[in-house]
Amino acid sequence: MAGYYERGDFLVGGPLSLLDNDRGPYAAWNLFPAETRQVFAERGWDTVVAFQTRNVPHAGHEDLQKTVLGLCDGLLIHPIIGKKKAGDFRDEVILEAYKALIQGYFNPDRVFLNILPTEMRYAGPKEAILHAIMRKNYGCTHIIIGRDHAGVGKFYGEEEAIEIFERFPDLEIQPIMIRGDFWYCKKCARVASDRTCPHGEEDQIPFSGTLIRQGILDGQAPPAEVMRPEVFEVIRSFAQPFVE
Ligand SMILES: [Zn+2]
Repeated sequence: MAGYYERGDFLVGGPLSLLDNDRGPYAAWNLFPAETRQVFAERGWDTVVAFQTRNVPHAGHEDLQKTVLGLCDGLLIHPIIGKKKAGDFRDEVILEAYKALIQGYFNPDRVFLNILPTEMRYAGPKEAILHAIMRKNYGCTHIIIGRDHAGVGKFYGEEEAIEIFERFPDLEIQPIMIRGDFWYCKKCARVASDRTCPHGEEDQIPFSGTLIRQGILDGQAPPAEVMRPEVFEVIRSFAQPFVE
């Protein structure tokens, strides 16, 4: 919120005119909403599910993205590219990491990578609604909403961003609510959650952002169950992968 307070005492509103049509440094991945709608139509996708992210992909994300591809015709991976907080991954790192993942492990006919040029507000449930409306504009029919969507620290309740959608049934985009806390379970030999897996903590390999971060700093690859080696290599190739 500090960014808003720094803007001074007054904000001006009114009719909008587009003066600058610059697509920025990632122009090839910055299609406008009318253009992504066109792409989805050309591909014959009747249903498109959006995946919001501000992170590099780990195995839990990939598993979730592929699960929803069983429900929808296409997947829009839609990372937010813009101002983030210190310690978050830099824009370029997120984009390159996803390109590596898609190239190695996705059916290219079913996935589309495009950026969302805006900034994170860390506004939890309200931002989840904003994220949904923006993805509807880009032509998506569904959006994945998980635990603590757009949250920060422990500020919001874990399922607040899921529950808020009950109050907005008229958004014209269907949230796919993914409840649960995910990890890789050695006994299940797959991505599992507290809703699916009966095994103990000793069998869990966590998708811990902190551990992944530490691995990157130490040049120590996380286990393949947590992150694809190709994705890790891309992240590690950046001298400074984090926002300072
Ligand atoms: Zn298990």
